[in-house]
Amino acid sequence: MIYIRKRKTPNIIVEKATAIKKDPASGYEKLELPKDSTQLRFLFEQMPKATIRSELIKEQHGLCAYCMRRITGQQNDTKIEHYKALSMDKERALDYQNYLGVCYGGEHDSPEQNKQCLCCDASRGDKELTISPWNQRQMQAIGYYKNGEIYVRPNVGLGSELQNAMQADIDDVLHLNGEKDSNGKIEWDTRSKLVAGRRCICDSVHSQFDRWSKKGFLTVDYLQEKIEKLESQLKGDNIADEYIGVRLYLYKRKKEKLEKQK
Ligand SMILES: [Zn+2]
Repeated sequence: MIYIRKRKTPNIIVEKATAIKKDPASGYEKLELPKDSTQLRFLFEQMPKATIRSELIKEQHGLCAYCMRRITGQQNDTKIEHYKALSMDKERALDYQNYLGVCYGGEHDSPEQNKQCLCCDASRGDKELTISPWNQRQMQAIGYYKNGEIYVRPNVGLGSELQNAMQADIDDVLHLNGEKDSNGKIEWDTRSKLVAGRRCICDSVHSQFDRWSKKGFLTVDYLQEKIEKLESQLKGDNIADEYIGVRLYLYKRKKEKLEKQK
């Protein structure tokens, strides 16, 4: 998961939302949640969804807000997620500032074994989240183990309560680590193979480090250059590599380690 800088709501989206809310025929005014969720969803369906998806793709650089897999903005691979669930928050149901672009969480992938679980929104449903890709402080605390597991780093100033709530969202709500056993060990991957995907990046980075080290390239300055190059993928409307957060994290930690050794 990486930080997403939310952009201003495009005018066309503001105008449509306002028109729906003001239209007496829409019934918006009288809707009460959670009982009228179906009618509210019907109004949401009238929003300019293709425009919303393409705006989300730009601000998220072509990555699912939760798992960092590729999404293209097409209806068949990109869902518009309500961060505050539609059934819980009428005001924010038609508000672009409450939208994230997310993947289908494996719903379209065929299961190799029936134990593989769904991730992201497909796993979350309407559950409330503490973790937020719009929160820079939270996102700076995200780390990855060599086995591809995503975790919230302790001792980075979040406090244990917030840290635990974020980890529970990762493991139990969004299922970004597949299924874990009672000892917290990963038993099987998600259907979208997130753990394997992230592990593949970890392996690639560690063999890069070996190569760079042998050639004498593995220095703070060299890593800084690599970090800046990666971060340039997260500027403007650029499309970033899948799982880019993993590589960035590993480069940054390695750089910190080298700085301490100086
Ligand atoms: Zn996803």
